[in-house]
Amino acid sequence: MSNTIQAVRGMRDILPDETPLWRHLENTVATVLTNYGYQEIRFPIVEKTELFKRSIGEVTDIVEKEMYTFDDRNGDSLSLRPEGTAACVRAGIEKGLLYNQTQKLWYSGPMFRHERPQKGRYRQFHQVGVETFGLQGPDIDAELILICRRLWSLLGLEKNVSLEINSLGQPEARANYREKIVEYFSEHFDALDADSQNRLKSNPMRILDSKNPDTQKIVANSPLLSDYISEESAEHFQQFKEYLDASNVEYRINPRLVRGLDYYSNTVFEWVTQDLGAQGTVCAGGRFDALVSYLGGKPTPAAGFAMGMERLIALLEAAGSTKLEPLADCYLLVAGAAAQAKGLQLAESIHNSMPQLKLLTHCGGGSFKSQMKKADKSGARIALIMGEDEVQSQTMTIKHLRESIEQKTIAEYQLIENLQAIFEH
Ligand code: ATP
Ligand code: MG
Repeated sequence: MSNTIQAVRGMRDILPDETPLWRHLENTVATVLTNYGYQEIRFPIVEKTELFKRSIGEVTDIVEKEMYTFDDRNGDSLSLRPEGTAACVRAGIEKGLLYNQTQKLWYSGPMFRHERPQKGRYRQFHQVGVETFGLQGPDIDAELILICRRLWSLLGLEKNVSLEINSLGQPEARANYREKIVEYFSEHFDALDADSQNRLKSNPMRILDSKNPDTQKIVANSPLLSDYISEESAEHFQQFKEYLDASNVEYRINPRLVRGLDYYSNTVFEWVTQDLGAQGTVCAGGRFDALVSYLGGKPTPAAGFAMGMERLIALLEAAGSTKLEPLADCYLLVAGAAAQAKGLQLAESIHNSMPQLKLLTHCGGGSFKSQMKKADKSGARIALIMGEDEVQSQTMTIKHLRESIEQKTIAEYQLIENLQAIFEH
């Protein structure tokens, strides 16, 4: 009986026919961020569990029920990273990148959360995150938005996403607000879902983020945070909006937008789409001025965002952006023992002379006919044929696979100039 092993639930393979679109997305993101002067940082996939508990907060979905946590062989509690901000700040403090400096950083890679898998929600998923440090003003908040907008536009997604913004104020303002909503939700206690009832004591702000439709109805009439934020926070938000207006960025103020993570303050934003069903947030971010000191660093203002790559890929696919590049420009057929010996050598000299050319060399033998089939399937424009005759006479045959140009046999030493004539025009 066959007993094959399958992938872990909620963890997907990204197959060869999907990777070109992924690469297109990743390259576009990397180019835009580099062009805005942001530097890439890479940190481990595993961190001490304590880091996430302290930064994300004990009473959050992520820490309560979504982390992949295990003891290593020394008995230390470690976790697969559920997001990147905590590790980025940890690395920044540890390596002295934050003290008296400004940083504009980005990272990309897999994140892990033990959630119920569904479309747009996986247990291993990928994020690109951007984090800035040492920059206090709303100008950086606005720049983050402008970077996103440029990205959407380069990806052809500007019509598929829209921006929602809000201000969470400072922690003190939230403490006052917290009292108000505890009062309000206590009055509606029986109508709340069980999770939200529990949160009322532990983390009432999270009720605002509930996905339960009945709870959402109660949330719709809850007191507004904007009525409680300080004048300074209101001023920051006002300036932020003015910068967006000045650059013609469209947005909607969503007074009930809160972030799932506890460390945010003042500006928060989400880019949302209607095209992906329930999993509509493709990018989320804001300021997290308290986090660096919370993790033991000197107080450092910070702002950033994280994008969900699977959701962006799904959007690109929905928008019809398939990046199916042909596997090869040129397919080298080698028929017969003598040709086989010479084939690899010839391929090397073509790769040397034309490093940009996608040349696929046939391996594994087989009849001329079966090799021709593979050449055709590869999407190559031309087949280069080397058979017994060609080896004997030191020639090559060039056969055009997509255009009606007659096939021709040329002397081997003329090969590169012929290929250049075909591909470099
Ligand atoms: P959600 O409300 O959808 O659970 P979140 O608030 O938990 O999102 P963040 O922690 O802000 O998400 O992560 C930033 C982005 O990463 C999200 O907007 C989303 O695009 C993506 N993301 C988060 N969790 C997942 C997941 N399990 N699978 C795929 N993408 C995800
Ligand atoms: Mg979540």
